[in-house]
Amino acid sequence: MTDLVALFELQEHDSAIAALSSQRVHLPGRAELDGVLRSGQIAHEQLGAVRGRRDELHRSLKLLDDQTHTAAAKVKAVNDRLYSGKVTATRELQDLQADLDNSERHLGELEDREIELMVEVEQVDAEVIAAETILADLAKNVETLRGSIAQSEVEIDNQISAIGLLRTESARTLPPELVADYERRRELNRGVGAALLIGNTCQGCRLTIPAVEASELHADKSGQVFSCDNCGAILVVR
Ligand SMILES: [Zn+2]
Repeated sequence: MTDLVALFELQEHDSAIAALSSQRVHLPGRAELDGVLRSGQIAHEQLGAVRGRRDELHRSLKLLDDQTHTAAAKVKAVNDRLYSGKVTATRELQDLQADLDNSERHLGELEDREIELMVEVEQVDAEVIAAETILADLAKNVETLRGSIAQSEVEIDNQISAIGLLRTESARTLPPELVADYERRRELNRGVGAALLIGNTCQGCRLTIPAVEASELHADKSGQVFSCDNCGAILVVR
């Protein structure tokens, strides 16, 4: 095997490693995870808002309950006094009766409001549970996705390591100055330091080189390095 063919093997290993590295960065699970994390953030905010509303309603209900107890006590007190037999003056009895009517109406209003509020509390309690469930499901989803991403990373890293060993082996057999030249060209040409010449087309950039130059290269047995004028890759004839 000429140096250049071996160099192309090195290129193939490097391309495989680059493809795997790109695959590792762009694992489909990552985009999905980002989406789920964003949904989780929104769900978290929604849960906070609905919990805030629930707490406020519970406070209002407690306040209303206290007011209802006070109003009920007032009704009882007025009622007790009205029927105690101690009040006999007609005017005072009339006033007590009017007071009792007012107090009972007030108590009735508070009780009605309390029932309405209890229905609201029940609804918002259910909303809190629903929001908590959504958030818990998303958290589970995040965990699963992270696990699968980590597993894919390990698998890809293992493949990269295996190819890395082959790469080292290939590089070891080549003249260091050729490898250095190749590395320099790779850096300038998005990872392509060596490319096959098929016919007169460079497979690195898919452009053609002059036919005369191509024939010379195909006929050359000296192992001399020719490069593509367009992309700079070392041209390899097999
Ligand atoms: Zn080229």
